[in-house]
Formats: sequence, structure tokens, C-alpha cells
Amino acid sequence: MSGAVEIRVRGQVQGVGFRPFVWGVARRFGVSGWVRNDAEGVLIGASGGQVDAFVAAIRGEAPPLARVDAVEVVEVEGAFAGPFEIVASGGAGAETRVTPDAAVCDACLGEVMDAGDRRFGYPFANCTHCGPRFSIISGLPYDRAMTSMARFPMCEACRAEYEDPADRRFHAQPVACADCGPRVWLEPEAEGDPIAEAAARLRAGQILAVKGIGGFHLVCDALNAEAIATLRARKQRPAKPLAVMAELETIERYALMNDWGREALCDPAAPIVVLEEGEARLPSGIAPGQGMVGWMLPYTPLHHLLIRAVGGPLVMTSGNLSGEPQVIGNQEAREKLAPIVDGFVMHDRDIARRLDDSVEALTPSGRMVLRRARGQVPGTIPLPPGFEGAPQVVAYGGQMKSAICLIKNGQALLGHHLGELDEALTWDAFVEADADYAALFDHRPEVVAVDLHPEYRATKHGKARADREGLRLEEVQHHHAHLAACMAENGWPLDGGKVVGLILDGTGLGADGTLWGGEVLIGDYHGFDRFAYLKPAPLIGGDMAAREPWRNALVRLDQAGLAQEADRLFGDKPLAMARMAAERGVNAPMSSSMGRLFDAVAAVLGICPDGQSFEGEAAMRLEALARSADGGRVEIPVATVVDGALDPSAMIRDLCAERAAGAKVADLAHAFHQWVARCFADVARTAMAESGAEAVVLSGGCFQNRVLLEMLVDALAGTTVMLHEQTPANDGGLALGQAVIAAARCL
Ligand code: ZN
Ligand code: ZN
Ligand code: FE
Repeated sequence: MSGAVEIRVRGQVQGVGFRPFVWGVARRFGVSGWVRNDAEGVLIGASGGQVDAFVAAIRGEAPPLARVDAVEVVEVEGAFAGPFEIVASGGAGAETRVTPDAAVCDACLGEVMDAGDRRFGYPFANCTHCGPRFSIISGLPYDRAMTSMARFPMCEACRAEYEDPADRRFHAQPVACADCGPRVWLEPEAEGDPIAEAAARLRAGQILAVKGIGGFHLVCDALNAEAIATLRARKQRPAKPLAVMAELETIERYALMNDWGREALCDPAAPIVVLEEGEARLPSGIAPGQGMVGWMLPYTPLHHLLIRAVGGPLVMTSGNLSGEPQVIGNQEAREKLAPIVDGFVMHDRDIARRLDDSVEALTPSGRMVLRRARGQVPGTIPLPPGFEGAPQVVAYGGQMKSAICLIKNGQALLGHHLGELDEALTWDAFVEADADYAALFDHRPEVVAVDLHPEYRATKHGKARADREGLRLEEVQHHHAHLAACMAENGWPLDGGKVVGLILDGTGLGADGTLWGGEVLIGDYHGFDRFAYLKPAPLIGGDMAAREPWRNALVRLDQAGLAQEADRLFGDKPLAMARMAAERGVNAPMSSSMGRLFDAVAAVLGICPDGQSFEGEAAMRLEALARSADGGRVEIPVATVVDGALDPSAMIRDLCAERAAGAKVADLAHAFHQWVARCFADVARTAMAESGAEAVVLSGGCFQNRVLLEMLVDALAGTTVMLHEQTPANDGGLALGQAVIAAARCL
């Protein structure tokens, strides 16, 4: 190239230090011209010097938080002269991409820990490569006036950094120091350094609420069993696992680590990463009966300072009242969390929107997102080939694990985890998030996608909006949406042909009006056939069946001809009434749910038969037991599909017989997982042979179970298998599937 070029850079390239990066590269290669942000990303005009090397460096050396989707170069007339310049962007609304919050970078952390630096000990240090973003933005364009930093005018020293293109803090909107930025304090107030005092209180066994990036955490010493028990009692959270924050060296002592685990922990998103227990053990109250602990690294300077002052791992669980969303405001925290905590670590940088910690786990092939929120949202997922002309779509997800998805400009934006929409405050957050995303991303949908279930609040909301605004409404079957979500995030093309979907889930409304959840589908983005399914059983008491595993055990034992065994195991329960309800179909809808079969087997094996203290507890304990078993001690023959239905009755009889013969519960839990994996792998192979489908998709909430996932991947060896990685396999990923199916119907 000899003349001038115009370079278009697309992707996550705004608010991540991309322009100063380009400026630095231009100086290095003696290039003249300019760089600016606009509605499509970053635009560069360049000529002179080593332009080819300049372009190569832009492609290859992008700053840490940038995600470059495309670099397009066209030759243009003329030439530029003089030094390379950063030019102001073209007016309000021109800068379009909002980036996720990022963990403090090494350079900033180095300053915070350096006694000679002006930010020594400052809990809010950040730069263009790190710090809060989505959690502090109230509107666009992304500049300080539109963030919760607006009330902190920069001091001269900070402004000089902010205005110097050679500085790491050039145009870092949240830039701050102790002279001009947010401050931290302790309540009840203390003499001296609030962080040192907070650490002393934690070491003494107190429970503190600590304000972070996306909300408040409840914090205590993770090595103090008594403090953990107190926290659980006060929060009324008897068994749900608690996340732990620690430095990497500490985590390596307590957890089994591999490269993926390290990579996930050290990601700028700083998620909670669920890892198997290692040699050293935390008190059992952290994650009772799980054999796994969710770990995260400190991700703000405040966390680093606190962890270092304490000198050990800290419990960091979300600061909320049972069932409610995490608290984000100072006054709200004082009012709601006072009965749980002994004090507060407060600061005065407001949180613009609640962002829970993201959660990841490791699978046989890498990382898998279990909960998508802080640090990952609003990152986008490029739509697969064939979706280029997709209209703008908004999809409203399900009733549980609610999240909203937007499609625009060939990208899907799966919004942050909101929670269960039955809960009033979560519902408010859902409605707010809908308006919030529409405004932030200048989103004007032509199409609204919702679940088939008419009673989901999200469905009603979407229908009302479509009605009100005259938009096209697309209803999407729940398990078809799970299938499509997994296909989309794996980049399966629009015309890539049919795949087999093993959708093992809780419940969702089926196309025939019954509740589905153990499905073998053959389909694509346009449609599906139900090839096979778990033999249905009644959910006695409707939603109660999801909370009390004995209800599922009863119906599966009765189906297997083991009514007497049910009488023996659950004699203290109202069995006669339950059986009558099942027989007459009174508040006992039929369901092929795999999640409920896990509950049934758990209860048969004596795990949480009476009730679960959190959703998924029985299945998670069953998974942990299966993981602890050596495997192969007990084998249960696979079932075959008859008239489309896979009947678990023989398996239930085998389990009971083995148990009576003295088999260990862990071996039985393992054998059950193996049975599910082998049965569904067999059905998948049959479905592939009959349909010509060339790949298998594993989706639905049951695939958060890594033992099951691993066994199925093994059992399907030799076939192309698609798993969830960036989006949750459970209903947290549902909206993405709805969105792409709705888009496909328009293409
Ligand atoms: Zn930094
Ligand atoms: Zn300052
Ligand atoms: Fe689901």
C-alpha cells in the first residue's frame, strides 16, 4: 500500500483505550492521519510511514479489553500530513458500544500497592484497561457526565492523565484518586484506616456488608465455621453454597486447578468459578454436600486491600434478603441488611444497575457459564452465518433465571441475570432492565419473542408490548429455544441443517399443552419434531413437586409397581391424597421433566426427600455423590424407547433392588447418571441415523450437572457435540434461543 487508507474497526472497541492504542501505533510507524469513534466502532484515516505494519499492529495488538470483530481497509484518495491525531467523535449517540466491568489490571494494582505512588492504598484506582463500566453508566454517550462518577470533578493530576493520549488513563471515564474520587468508610464508624479496621472486625468473626461493583456482598472469614453458621442463620440460607474470594495462591491450595480454571479466574470478568475441592478443606458450612466450591479473585482494589489486610479467604455472598435481588443502594443496604450484618463497608460511587457475580464451571472441553452477569454483560455474541439480514428483535426469556436478549446489527446481546420473576422486586428489575437496554443500545425492535407459556410474566409483558407498539409477536416453544440458544452460541449456520437436541430440563410448556423437560428433538432454527421423550409422570401439587422431591419419587415408584416401597419410604407423607390427586389429574399436570426424575431418584436414595432449601439442591447433592463414586460398581441396563417414550420404571426397580442388596448411595447415584447418559446417547444415535442430522446439541438446566455432561460427551464420542460455553444451559440462556428463532422466521 502506498497511498492513504481508511480503516474501519468493528467490535468492542469503545471505552477500552482503542484510540490511544491506535495513536501510539501510528507514532511507532511514522504514520499520519487521525482516529475517531463513531456509531459503527472506530474509524481511522492513515497515510505515510509504514502503513502496512500499522494495519498489522491494529489487527494483532489490540488493548486487553477490546474485542475486534473486523478490521476493514479501503484505499482512498489523497494523503494526510502532520502528526497523527485523536479526533472528537461525531456528537451525542455516536459512541455505541458499552463494555462490561473489568477486574483491576496489574498496572493499577501495582500502583495501589506501591507506597511511593500517588494512588497508594486507593480503593478506586482504574484505567482504560480496567475498572467499572456497565455498572456505573446511566446513559449514552459513554462519558463521565453520564456515569455515577459525574459528581466527582477530576483534580488537576487526574485531568492531566485523562487528557494525555500517551497515558494509560487517557479518556478513562471513571479515573479518580484520593484527592478527587470516591471514598470508603465503615459503619459503625472507626478511627483510622477503614479497611484495616474492617479486616480486624472480620478476623474477629463479624459479618460485614461490603459494597462492590454490581451490588453489596455479605462477607465473613471463610475459615471461621462459627461466623459462617451465624451468616447462614441470619440470612436464612441453610445449605445453598457460598462463594469465596481469595488470592490465586490460596485458591490453588483449596481447589483442584487446571489451566481452564486459572484462565477463568483470571479473566477480566473475574467470575465465580466452581472448582472441585482439593487437599486443604474449607469449613463444611461453605458448600454442604457439594464437594465443589465457587471461588473468585478479588476484582477491585478495595477487595485486594481487604483480602490482604485479612490475610485469608473471605465468604462473599450476595447481599440480599432471602428471595430478593441483591441490594445496591447505601440506604437500602442499611435498612435491609442491618439484621444480618455487624457493620458496613460503604462507598459513595453509586451503582447504576445491579449486576450479580457471574458464575462459571469447567467442562470436559473448557469453560461454561452458569450465570451471566457482571463482567460478561453487555458483551455480545455474533450471530451465526445466514443471520446477516436479521431484524431487531427483543426476546423476554422464561419465568426463572430471567434474562432479556436483544438482536441488532448481526449481534445478540444476552442481558444480565435478573432472577425469578415471581419475586416482586425482581419483576421491577426486569421491567427496568427492558427500558434500560432499549435506551442504552438505541434498540427499536420489529419483533418480540416470548415463551409459549401464557402465564409467564415475561410472556405477558412481551405480548402487551407487541400489542401496544404494533410489533410482530413470535411465540417459541421452551425446549426449541434451549436447542437454538446452544446452536447460536456455537455458530451453527442458519442453513446448517437439522441437529439432534438432547434437552434435559426442569419444565417448560410443550407444543401439545403438557409440560415437557426430557426431550429428544430433531430440528433447526425454523422448527423441530419431538423424536422421543422421558415417559411422563404427574407433578403432584404442581409447583410443590419441584420443591418436595418425595412427590416425584412417589409417582415413579408407583409407575414401577413399587407402591409398597413408596409406602415404606414416605409413610409420614399424605400418600393417599397425593395418589388420588395423581389419578384424577387434580393439580397434577403430566410432565416429562428430567429435572423431576433427578429429584425422584434423589428422594428414593434418601436425599432431601422432604424438601429442598434451594432450587436444584437434591440434584446437586446427587451429582456430588456421583462424582465421589469410583464408578462401575453398579450398572443399570439402558432402557429403550417404546412409542417415543423412554420409561424409567426398570431403572427405578433396579435402583431399589441394588439398594436393598446393600449398594452404596454414591454408587447408585453414579449408576443413575450413567443410565441417563447411555439411554439418551443411544436415542441420539438412532435419531441421527433416521434423520441424517450430523450434530447433537446438549441443552437445558440439567446440563449444569457436569457429571452428566461429561458422561454424555463420553457416550457420544465420535459425533459432533455442541455444548453451552458463553451462555447458560438453563433458562438464563432461553432468551437467546427465542431471539434467533424469531429472527429466523423473518428471514
Ligand atoms: Zn488499570
Ligand atoms: Zn484525582
Ligand atoms: Fe428450561
